[in-house]
Amino acid sequence: MAADSVTPKQSRTPLLAGNWKMNLDHLQAIAFVQKLAWTLKDAQHDTASAEVAVFPPFTDLRSVQTLVNADDLAIAYGGQDISAHDSGAYTGEISGAFLAALDTKYVIVGHSERREYHGETDEDIAAKVAAAHRHGIIPIICVGETADDLEQHGPSAVPVAQLRVALEGAAKPGSGQQSEIVVAYEPVWAIGSGQAATSEQAQQVCAALRALIAEVLGDDVAQATRILYGGSVKAANIAGFMREPDVDGALVGGASLQLEEFASIVRFQKHVGT
Ligand code: PEP
Repeated sequence: MAADSVTPKQSRTPLLAGNWKMNLDHLQAIAFVQKLAWTLKDAQHDTASAEVAVFPPFTDLRSVQTLVNADDLAIAYGGQDISAHDSGAYTGEISGAFLAALDTKYVIVGHSERREYHGETDEDIAAKVAAAHRHGIIPIICVGETADDLEQHGPSAVPVAQLRVALEGAAKPGSGQQSEIVVAYEPVWAIGSGQAATSEQAQQVCAALRALIAEVLGDDVAQATRILYGGSVKAANIAGFMREPDVDGALVGGASLQLEEFASIVRFQKHVGT
C-alpha cells in the first residue's frame, strides 16, 4: 500500500454518540452541553477528526439547538426515536418533520429498550428508517442479540437479520433524498451491564453487518457507512474498540452522562495507543 493511501476505515469520520435516555431536563441539558464544549475546547479536541453527538430527551432539543447555534458548537444532536408517521392522530409520537425543524442531524431507531418495552418489531424499525430519510435525518439503526440469542444462534445471526429488515426502509443511494445510515451494534447483554463485548467480538459482528450492507446497498455504501459499537463503553475500553477495522465509533449510554468520562471517550485518539 502506498504510504499516503487512505484505508476505508480512515475515510470514515469516527462518531461518538451519547444516548442520554430519560435523563437531564432542558436546563441540565444546556449546562451539560456547554461544559462538554468547554472541556473539549480546553483539551484542543479536533472535532473534524472525531464527531460528537448527543441524544437528549425530546423536551431538551429546542434548548440544545439554541445553544449550539448561538455558540456555534461543533456538537451534533439527535432524537432518541421518531414516529413512522408524518402527522395525525398519533398521541405521544414525534414526527420527523418536527425533528428536522430543530435541525436534528440524527435519530436513534430500534434501540433495544424500544424493542423490549415498546414492542417495536423489525418492520416498525424499517418504517422509522424510512421516516427519518423522508425528513433528511440520518437514522442510527440499533441492532443486537440477547444473551439467549447468542447462545442459540451465535453472535451475528440476529443482528444481521434485524439489519436486513431495517434496510428495507432505507432510501436508495442516489435517489436525491437523504440515504445515509449509521448502524450501532449493541449486544443487549452488554447494555448497562458493565460487561462490554470484547473488541474482537464487536469486530466480528460489525464486519458481518458491513458485509450485509455491501450485499444490499453495494460496496461503496458499505465502505462509507459508519458502524458503531455500544454496550458498557467507557474511557478505559474505547481505544480497544476503535482499533478494530470495522468499528467506527460508539453509542454510549451511562458513561455519556458523566462529563469527564464522555469527553475522554470522545478524545479516544489521545489514548488509542495505550
Ligand atoms: C445504550 O443504551 O445504548 C448503551 C450502550 O448503554 P450503556 O453504555 O450504558 O451500556
